Amino acid sequence: MYDAVVIGAGPGGYVAAVKLGQRGKKVALVEKSFVGGTCTNWGCIPTKALLSSAHLYSEIVEKSRQLGINVEGVSYDFTAIKNHMNKVVTMSRKGIEYLLKKYNVELINGEATVESHNLVRVADKLFETKNIIIATGSYPSLISPFDKLDGLWTSDDVFTMEALPQSILIVGGGVIGVEFATFFSTLKIPVTIVELMEHILPTEDKDVAEVVAKTLRKRGVEIYESSKVIDVEPVDNGFKCVVETAQGTIERTAHKVLISVGRRPKIGEDLKALGIEIQRGIKTNNKMQTNIPNIYAIGDVRGQIMLAHVAMYEGVVAAKNICGEEAQMDYSAVPSVIFSNPEVASVGLHEKDVDPSKIKIFSFPLSANGRARTILEKDGFAKVIADKETLKVLGMTIVGPAATDMIMEGVVAVRNGLSARELEESIHPHPTLSEMVLGAIEGVVERPIHL
Ligand code: NAD
Repeated sequence: MYDAVVIGAGPGGYVAAVKLGQRGKKVALVEKSFVGGTCTNWGCIPTKALLSSAHLYSEIVEKSRQLGINVEGVSYDFTAIKNHMNKVVTMSRKGIEYLLKKYNVELINGEATVESHNLVRVADKLFETKNIIIATGSYPSLISPFDKLDGLWTSDDVFTMEALPQSILIVGGGVIGVEFATFFSTLKIPVTIVELMEHILPTEDKDVAEVVAKTLRKRGVEIYESSKVIDVEPVDNGFKCVVETAQGTIERTAHKVLISVGRRPKIGEDLKALGIEIQRGIKTNNKMQTNIPNIYAIGDVRGQIMLAHVAMYEGVVAAKNICGEEAQMDYSAVPSVIFSNPEVASVGLHEKDVDPSKIKIFSFPLSANGRARTILEKDGFAKVIADKETLKVLGMTIVGPAATDMIMEGVVAVRNGLSARELEESIHPHPTLSEMVLGAIEGVVERPIHL
């Protein structure tokens, strides 16, 4: 009898399995493909590898002369870029496999079906278990009119491309759309983005999207906001898209079309037959239990916040509850990170969602930061939202280099109810980009020294 069978070895599943293994539980982890799931194999890790190559290329092309470095004949080799990506993915997978072995997690290769509350089948083998964790993830949405046509790309297809496209039209200017637009446009591939909402990255504030759009446009990206692809048809060497924009209907032809309009939870028929409650995804309480108390669900399959780091934390909470600890998931400070150029990160409340009469808000520009000048960066800002009376930090947004790392100051502040004054009194090292965050903190307390 197993203590737990975990289905799906993505960031949620493998973390839950490792946590259970570390606590001495008998645990099996079932995976039909590679360990690491979407994040390691077709998501976070390979995109960041691609973006690192593109970023270095743009740094050399755009900055080397000003920084006094002579570089002749700069070019890139896409096969080598892909080799780098594949190596990083393989190393990450091996790292996970090592951890599973180290903590005695039994890795089962195959497709699992849940036969009953306590029984999981993989091929002809049955696993009897006290608990089950569903961590089967999600798949890219293909909405109409894109669902009827072969040859359109989702993010999964980008990683298997043998050569770069001659041009690409990206439907959906969310996180995936913007990260790939950043990659392709940096390598000088013509890119068009069609975004349904008023601006790209619609979950972030408008001023954030404007900074990112400015860099993308500088690299030749055409961006159509409040727009929709209403028809797509194959033509010689690509696709013709009919785009309904605010200014009227236009046609754009591109070699490849990438659909990045969100993802859907992957819920098997076995679970539906078992009577698992579904609401967008598998419904759980804050202990990650479904309506069947010994069956837990974590990560994208819940259809809520589809982020690897959220899945990992949900995995830890599920594992702790299986071990008899009373753990509850806390969603009060979930960071969002976007590897655009410049990077974007936010946590807690956004300006667009708050009543301006109840808060204090201050934006400090990257252009006033000394460290940014040394690396020739000026586009970006840090924005802090605090309670008007208590100065408790309610939200933070950072746009600029290393924003995705620097957001941790905001995460700790929002999660622990720290006030802007407490952050202001914490010494920020000089000269660093983190002083841009300090500038915004000072701005809500009184006024920034350096502005
Ligand atoms: P998303 O929800 O971030 O973006 C989808 C975008 O498509 C939205 O901007 C939406 O307005 C737009 N859209 C929807 N229908 C459209 C239509 N018919 N025409 C034009 N635009 C349309 O989803 P995604 O970018 O596909 O990413 C999927 C998931 O993966 C998200 O939950 C995302 O957070 C996650 N992800 C995270 C990271 C990261 O953390 N850095 C990176 C990649 C993906």
